[in-house]
Amino acid sequence: MTPAERRAALEAVGSEVRACTRCRLHAGRTSAVPGEGHADTEVVFVGEGPGMNEDRQGRPFVGRAGDLLVRFLATIGWTRDEVFITNVVKCRPPDNRDPEPDEIAACLPYLERQLGIIDPALIVTLGRHSMGRFIPGARIGQAHGTLHPVDPATGAGAAMVYAMYHPAAALRSSDVERQSYDDAAGIPAALLEARRRRETTTSTTTQSSVLTAATESTTIEPAPQAPTLF
Ligand code: URA
Ligand code: SF4
Repeated sequence: MTPAERRAALEAVGSEVRACTRCRLHAGRTSAVPGEGHADTEVVFVGEGPGMNEDRQGRPFVGRAGDLLVRFLATIGWTRDEVFITNVVKCRPPDNRDPEPDEIAACLPYLERQLGIIDPALIVTLGRHSMGRFIPGARIGQAHGTLHPVDPATGAGAAMVYAMYHPAAALRSSDVERQSYDDAAGIPAALLEARRRRETTTSTTTQSSVLTAATESTTIEPAPQAPTLF
């Protein structure tokens, strides 16, 4: 896929999400939140579901948890425009309750398609619900800060997954916050390892990467184009 085709394909998923009524969460939403970021990135962050601010703006991670995520990224010299950020469910659960299994199942095809289009080297899961999709059976207390192969059934078979706590949990606990900064510091090494594995297990052409410079030196090239919203 060319970068333009990838952007168009992500936009098509976004349009479907905004019109979606596949599960009960559509009834309470102000705006669906398909996700946003760089279509040609190697790294996709997957949260749980939109909160109040996200529901109002139609954009992922724009509230306090989002501010903290941006701070985690800043510690490794990355910005949110250089990665893709989305959620397991695209519509806000009422009162920020956990998404129900049937809601997650209904929404998964969208995430799978996004991952199939972006074909990332690394998926960073934020919180239990996202981790559970990619590393079934894992416990967040043990799995955070660790790297795992991804089940090909997720639409991202050539990717590896790196688990982190949800930033909202870090807002509630200074201990989790400290561990999250440590885990964030491990993301560039996780990307390097994911890339290595990808090079040895896939023969497809390597996609251009906006983060190539990021992991191989301590300075980061800015994203080559303005962030694209999907
Ligand atoms: N929490 C999430 O899991 N996702 C968002 O987009 C915002 C907060
Ligand atoms: Fe559709 Fe997902 Fe929203 Fe449910 S949460 S209505 S499946 S977009």
